[in-house]
Amino acid sequence: MRGVVIHGPKDLRIEDVAPGPLGPRDVRVKIEAGGICGSDLHYYHHGGFGTVRLREPMALGHEISGIVEAVGGEVSQVAAGARVAVNPSLPCHACRYCRAGHHNQCLDMRFMGSAMRFPHVQGGFRQCITIDEGQAVPVAPGLTMAEAAMAEPLAVCLHAARRAGPLMGKTVLVTGCGPIGSLAVLVARFGGASEIVATDIGAFPLSVVERLGARAINIAENPQGLDPYGRDKGTFDVLFEASGSEAALRGALEAMRPGGVIVQIGVGGEMTLPMNLIVAKELQIRGSFRFDAEFRLAVDLIGKGLIDVKPLLTETVPFDQAPRAFDLASDRSRAMKVQLSF
Ligand code: ZN
Repeated sequence: MRGVVIHGPKDLRIEDVAPGPLGPRDVRVKIEAGGICGSDLHYYHHGGFGTVRLREPMALGHEISGIVEAVGGEVSQVAAGARVAVNPSLPCHACRYCRAGHHNQCLDMRFMGSAMRFPHVQGGFRQCITIDEGQAVPVAPGLTMAEAAMAEPLAVCLHAARRAGPLMGKTVLVTGCGPIGSLAVLVARFGGASEIVATDIGAFPLSVVERLGARAINIAENPQGLDPYGRDKGTFDVLFEASGSEAALRGALEAMRPGGVIVQIGVGGEMTLPMNLIVAKELQIRGSFRFDAEFRLAVDLIGKGLIDVKPLLTETVPFDQAPRAFDLASDRSRAMKVQLSF
């Protein structure tokens, strides 16, 4: 069994990885599709992000789908042959946050392909993986494995929408139009937003969100593009900030209406912000981290055709060509979501 293992910056290898022992409540999944995420790219280019650093080789990947190959003796929720989206998060279900229902804040979270804890939690870019049965979520029959692998990033955006509150009839701004920003556009549409504006500095991602129903503004070519929305103390009820860029967040503040909600999804490290503006307009800045029950909701919405993720799937590359796929995924001039096939 082979997998895609990061050893350090730009040192991505295809090598043998063990699928792990099959416990009584485990299922073994033959992986079909795996989406490359921004955090995978951070490991690839920089060996980590923020204070999180690679300290041992780690299989990457947490946006995966596949087919159940074998199940442990006590498994009751899925059977061999089931087509599943894999939930990469495995909370402890015992800590104070888990007991309160805030699983994404778990004190002992095991999240696939993450170097936050040591030993690192190995990821899902591999031909075969053993997971807890609760992590294997069956998908609708008509769904492709590529679409099923989009459940994870969609869950991130559904959680962000929950953090924002009701979107019905709201004006929504999305800054940063990579896969997360693009999915935020789809979620805002699904939630009933009356107007969606999206900004980025790249023509290609903006062309994608335009097709998804947003008004696209290229803030590199047109730095004053949001000015009209700053009239009368601002226009937008909700901002989904998906770039992690201080410039993007700063640039959006004037366009937010008083009392507006800013949901910060992108991680960009430290920022300096005009606090007087935030205070005077009573803006509400809310973080949004991963997801919880939204994973099953994402599988459900894609499966019922209520959210169509297909326009985001720009490329599929065989996993043994992973370095080429990672370079392609880093090229924002032509790639949205790049997936590996196994
Ligand atoms: Zn916990």
